[in-house]
Amino acid sequence: MSALAGLEAAYAAACDDPAFHEELGALLTSYAGRPTPLYETRRLTATGETIPNAGGAKVLLKREDLLHTGAHKINNALGQALLARRMGKRRIVAETGAGQHGVATATVCSLLDLECIVYMGAEDVERQSPNVFRMKLLGAEVKPVDSGSRTLKDAINEAIRDWVTNVDSSYYLLGSVVGPHPYPVMVRDFQSVIGRETREQVMTEYERQPSCLVACVGGGSNAAGLFYPFLDDAGVRLIGVEAAGKGLDNGGHAASLAAGRAGVLHGAMSYLLQDRHGQVAATTSIAPGLDYPGVGPEHSYLKDSGRAEYVTVTDDQALEGFRMLCAAEGIIPALESSHAVYKAVEVAASLSAEDIVVVNLSGRGDKDLGIVAGALGVSL
Ligand SMILES: *Cc1c(COP(=O)(O)O)cnc(C)c1O
Repeated sequence: MSALAGLEAAYAAACDDPAFHEELGALLTSYAGRPTPLYETRRLTATGETIPNAGGAKVLLKREDLLHTGAHKINNALGQALLARRMGKRRIVAETGAGQHGVATATVCSLLDLECIVYMGAEDVERQSPNVFRMKLLGAEVKPVDSGSRTLKDAINEAIRDWVTNVDSSYYLLGSVVGPHPYPVMVRDFQSVIGRETREQVMTEYERQPSCLVACVGGGSNAAGLFYPFLDDAGVRLIGVEAAGKGLDNGGHAASLAAGRAGVLHGAMSYLLQDRHGQVAATTSIAPGLDYPGVGPEHSYLKDSGRAEYVTVTDDQALEGFRMLCAAEGIIPALESSHAVYKAVEVAASLSAEDIVVVNLSGRGDKDLGIVAGALGVSL
């Protein structure tokens, strides 16, 4: 608790310091590539082979995929790494599942000359060898975790254990809006740049508010970052898309909000996939970044309050979203983002031409080519 209390106080002090915001803003611009474009799709809805959409809403893409390292995760990694340096901590501990957050963390540690240790489930180390190599090139030490299911939740356990053991020298750089307070708040704040830019860009271009925002939900950070600046705008629908994997009834999914029950994991109470004994359940999704049994506590609150809606998209539907965006717009999306693309096109078809749907294109698809090739039966 003292580690968390210290972090909360340091974060509050950083928030009140204009120099902190200035340095973060400068790096987000010159290093990460902000602001990201808001792109109005031209053919995605017009082609309508899969989901007919004559006269439906415009679909705009918030292009987080164009950021350095290829996804929104760099927004949070930069913010927290600057906070660590302010706190005088030069040893950074992080967890990673598929390796995306590990790569973003290794990147900012290289930039800011910080030591970087990344815990990764042994199973994931084998499945995601290119990202392991990337992290090592960037100067990080990757520690395989052999306990439990040898995946993300076990890597988080080990990272927290390391942090509390070495708290005087170390900072735990958590990758989504999960874990104990203040992490869900900090990560949401660092990702909220997505929603602030979106609000300004839609207003400047179209002189109105969007009707609907759509984002995929793993831990929930890209969705929280897009939604948060719009929470008080009751006219803006917020739709989070979870991974239904092979289908909610077949057990193979990662839809914590749609199919979980309240539980405690990694220091937060939220919807959680668990068996009848309260043991954390195994998850699967074609999108590595959505494969987590919990979800941010603020999303759990937004579900209960009814402010946000949470829906699911299966592996097959996500592949269809992936295919549509490749074919219609010349953009290869991450499989995580493909869940949101599919749902956004479906929602747009139910709205009118006056409406605007913004979908968070959280990442680019280069990292997923092997998975997609496998799913299509193509050997590379
Ligand atoms: C990690 C990742 C996600 C899922 O993480 P959230 O915290 O739910 O945003 C989504 N999209 C991409 C491209 C990712 O790399």
